[in-house]
Parts: sequence; structure tokens; C-alpha cells
Amino acid sequence: MNYYSLNNPNHKVSFKEAVIAGIAPDRGLYYPEQIPTLSPEFIANLEQYSREEVAFQVMAPFVGESIPEAELRQIIEETLCFDFPCVAVHDSIFSLELYHGPTLAFKDVGARFMSRCLGYFNRNSEEKVTVLVATSGDTGGAVASGFLGVKGVNVVILYPSGKVSDIQERQLTTLGQNIHALEVDGVFDDCQDMVKTAFLDTDLKGSGLTSANSINVARWLPQMLYYFFAWQQLKKHHKEIIVSCPSGNFGNICAGLLAKKMGLPIAHFVAATNVNDTVPEFLQTGKYIPKPSKPTISNAMDVGNPSNFVRIQAMYDHSLEAILNDFSSYSYTDEQTRAVMQTLYSQTGYIAEPHGAVGYLGLQETLKNHPYAIGLFLETAHPVKFLEEVENTLSIELPLPEAIAQLLPLEKVKTRIATYAQLKSFLLNR
Ligand SMILES: *Cc1c(COP(=O)(O)O)cnc(C)c1O
Repeated sequence: MNYYSLNNPNHKVSFKEAVIAGIAPDRGLYYPEQIPTLSPEFIANLEQYSREEVAFQVMAPFVGESIPEAELRQIIEETLCFDFPCVAVHDSIFSLELYHGPTLAFKDVGARFMSRCLGYFNRNSEEKVTVLVATSGDTGGAVASGFLGVKGVNVVILYPSGKVSDIQERQLTTLGQNIHALEVDGVFDDCQDMVKTAFLDTDLKGSGLTSANSINVARWLPQMLYYFFAWQQLKKHHKEIIVSCPSGNFGNICAGLLAKKMGLPIAHFVAATNVNDTVPEFLQTGKYIPKPSKPTISNAMDVGNPSNFVRIQAMYDHSLEAILNDFSSYSYTDEQTRAVMQTLYSQTGYIAEPHGAVGYLGLQETLKNHPYAIGLFLETAHPVKFLEEVENTLSIELPLPEAIAQLLPLEKVKTRIATYAQLKSFLLNR
């Protein structure tokens, strides 16, 4: 399988090259040259296969010859070290809980898969790769945990001082080993700008820099697996299935749409957003107008120019009509989000954090047109990751899971920086 740059169809690379580079030299996102289809027999009998076998069948065509079968199977086994349960919430509505991994957010799957791919590509090399990543919260923790101890890979995480939660900061700063946390005097955009500047800096050309955000195909593609695992669990109901994804950079839903193209018969997708409504507006007006992001209580989705939307447009040959056939998109305010968190809790006992609650709202809206379908919303983070918001909104106290309690006695180790020059000297002098 080759990947081409969405800015230039003639620039083609292997899976390995796409993973190592992260983004094409012309700044285009990499996109698979063909979308493989799975055999109808395989899909019809999906529930009879182990998760690992399903994952191998789905991922193998995308990885191609870059990783041999035995190693790919090993990577998959290490990636899928936790459960993905579909939990019944009420009537025919289910929550697909993607937060049972080590850092309690769905980004664990992509981060674990990518880290192990890089570890494999780098197995015989003397040179170290440095993964440089800016985080507004969940990405940093998932990348730190996923890459911890991976041979030949150093990780440098930039996060905005005072803008991530205490738990999120602990997930970045307490691991040690090959993980380095840089606390930046500034906001997320400053961190992101520093990372971009580093990638373009010719003085750093030889230092093996790569990125681990969701534009990397090794983080994006394994997200397809959630939808296959959900299908394995829900097929027995013999109803059509509608899936709602709380969306920010649109990587997760784009992976779901790819799973559908491969043959997974999900009837319809919903991209639910907070007030950062660039995509819902596009689906209504046909005009894609990026905006500065607005802060909300579902902050992992505060994105005004979703980076993966170009992949969705490519998947549908830029036809708005074709996109509308497969997916809808709606936007919700913080007030609506809090209100539905309260209703869900009081009527069913289910505790949703703000991202999952936005997903639930989008699902409710869409099920009006599909009264006989099963509805599935993705719960993308553990409620404890948004502790204050959930406790205040629902007037409850959440017990701390073991994975978080373990972090509390550990010392936060970080380097404080304020300028790009400081980042550069950090990268050059290690
Ligand atoms: C990253 C994230 C999202 C958004 O996912 P995208 O793939 O960027 O659309 C939603 N919820 C949580 C909790 C996240 O961390």
C-alpha cells in the first residue's frame, strides 16, 4: 500500500515512510492510494473472530510490506491490552466506552500502535528518533504512556502552563525514562507553533524529528478498530446501527467512515461538535470556513480548523451530496451539554463526561430520523479526566481509578520554557 500527499497525488510513499515523516514535505496529509475491501464472509462472521484477528485483517492491507506478519500481530496484541465495551444506557442506546486504556482516553490505541511501529522501524538503527508533540490535554498522556520505554525513541511533549488539568499534567510529567515534558509559558497555539517551527528548522534536520499527532497515519488508521469491535458486540440485535462521534480534529470519525468504505455496514455516522462548528456549518452551507477555536468544557474538541477533514473530503471525492449520504453533523453549547449530562445521570444513572455527552446529543438528534435503529455514541474519555466539571455538574464525587491514584505520590518533572530558542537548545543539547 502506498500513501500520497493530499497536496500532490504524485508524491507517494510506503506506510513506513508515511509514519516516520508524519506529514508530507509539501505539508499535505498522507492518504491511502486505494481503500481495501474486506470479504463479505469475513464481515458476516465478524463476531466469531478474536479482536486481534479482526485487527490484523483490517490493518494488514494498510501496513503492506512495511512490517512482516508476525511483528504486526505482536504490535496489535500489545496495542489492544484493554476492553472496548458497548454499555447499554437506555432503550436502544449504547455507549462505546473507549476509555479503559492506560491513560483513560481513546487516544491510547493510536498512540500505542504508532509507538510500536516506530520501535520496529528503528530496531536496528543507532540513531534515535525524537517524537515531538504539542498537547492541549489527552494526546500528551497517551503518547507518553504509549512510547514509554520504546527503544530508540525519545519523546518531547510541550504543554501550556496552567492550561491542562492536574491529572493530565501528572500523566505527562511523572513517567521519566525516555519521556520529557516541557511546560510552556503560553497557550496551546504557542506550543503548536513551536513544534511546527522545529519541523521546518534546517538546523534540526539531522535530529530525527517526527510528530505523533492524529495526522500521522499510524495514529489515525487503528481507530477504525473501535467500529469493528462495536459491530461484533451489537450485531446480535439485527438492527441498523447509527454511530455518533464527539469530534474535534475529525480523525476518529474519519477512521469510522473508512471502516464503512471497507465494508463494515454501519448505517450512518454523526459528527457531534461543541460550539466549534466549522464542519456542521459546512454541511449546511457547503462553505468550509475555518475559525479561531473557542474554549468549551469539552476542550479536547476545541478545534476551529479540523485537520482530518481534508481526508473526509478526499474519501468522498469532494462531493457534499455523497458526504451527506453517510454522515450528519450537529453542534451543541456547554449549557446543552451540562443539561444532558444531568438528564442522563438522573434518568439512567449513566455518568457521561462532556465529550461523550456531546456525542449523545448528536445521536438523539439523528435517531429522530431512524426510529428503529440502534444508537451508539462514543464515550472518548473517563469521567475522572474531567473531574471538576463532572462532579460539579452532577453533584457527585467520583472515586479515583487505580491508574490515576498511582500518579499522585510521584514528583512532577518538567522543564519550563518560554521561547522557541529554548526548545531548540533543548533538542540540540540532549
Ligand atoms: C481527541 C479527543 C476527541 C476528538 O477526537 P478527534 O479525532 O480529534 O475528532 C474527543 N474526545 C476526547 C476525550 C478526546 O481526547
